[in-house]
Amino acid sequence: MLLKKKRFVIPALLLILIALAYSMLKPFWLAQLTELEAERIRLITPNSVAPATLNRINSEQMMADLRWLADAERQGRAPGTPGGIAAREWIAEQFAAIGLEPAGTAGFLHPYSVTEHFSLGRWLRGKNATIPGVENAANVLGLLPGTTPDLKPLVITAHYDHLGMHGDSIFYGADDNASGVAAMLELARYLKAKPLQHPVLFIALDSEEKGLQGAVALFRTGLLQPEQLSFNINIDMLSRDTHQLLFAVGTYHHPWLLPLIDQLQPQSAVKLIPAHDRPWYLAGNTQDWTLSSDHGVFHQQGVPFIYFGVADHADYHTPNDTADKVDVEFYHQVVETVLSFLQILDQQLTAN
Ligand SMILES: [Zn+2]
Repeated sequence: MLLKKKRFVIPALLLILIALAYSMLKPFWLAQLTELEAERIRLITPNSVAPATLNRINSEQMMADLRWLADAERQGRAPGTPGGIAAREWIAEQFAAIGLEPAGTAGFLHPYSVTEHFSLGRWLRGKNATIPGVENAANVLGLLPGTTPDLKPLVITAHYDHLGMHGDSIFYGADDNASGVAAMLELARYLKAKPLQHPVLFIALDSEEKGLQGAVALFRTGLLQPEQLSFNINIDMLSRDTHQLLFAVGTYHHPWLLPLIDQLQPQSAVKLIPAHDRPWYLAGNTQDWTLSSDHGVFHQQGVPFIYFGVADHADYHTPNDTADKVDVEFYHQVVETVLSFLQILDQQLTAN
């Protein structure tokens, strides 16, 4: 017995040594990969951008909509709260006024509730595995027909919920994500007058901040089937000037998007950076945002996606994310860029 046990001593010691070496070397290895990714981003960052000449989006209207959503009266738009309910009813009114077709299960609205539960997928990704329950939540869906029959819709998503109140503090969520919803409304107004070939399904999502539950509910309840959709464009946090950068997330998963970004950059007044979508063994500690907002759910459903958003800033998820901090001109040019991308994508998908 003793002899038999001894046979395991050397391999076991070796394994421990390898594990020790790995755990000691990994931080250096990750730091190296992080530096390489930063270098890659530096090399693709344009030195200059196009002058801000595009003016199809009504910036004043967009700012008025952003301020309404991020107003103290909305109390941070937590799902199912009076402020959240007021926000979604107001968005539905805007959709109707623009002339979108109701595409929810109750007019423009798609109500849902979620009971608290454990998520194995989130646990495996090292995230908080308990999905909190939400009552009386609702997405808002409006459809704009395209000019070519029988094309599958492009889906534009922007979450309208935010963190609500914590004690006496209001988490206004001006950038996150009143900016995306106000942009979506302006895009809808523009495209209503100048439609794309594809139909466009506009979705203002609820409870993104509680684990992307609004996007999950679209598919869980059977309202949407992934094979009926052509593409998801998610906009979340567009309005804070972080060194003129706008991240375009998703090109690692869908490299065919890179030529579209190359086509877009010369006409854009912001610096487009395809990044934040690479796994750790390529990008080290650089954050991977593939699953960090609603586009993640579309990605898991097999729908190709792109996500546009600015870099995290000091006011992210704090009570200081207020409307007065918005960089109005940068925000305007970001949304012009998203509009140009939609037009390029519409062409590209029709040509295929
Ligand atoms: Zn957000």
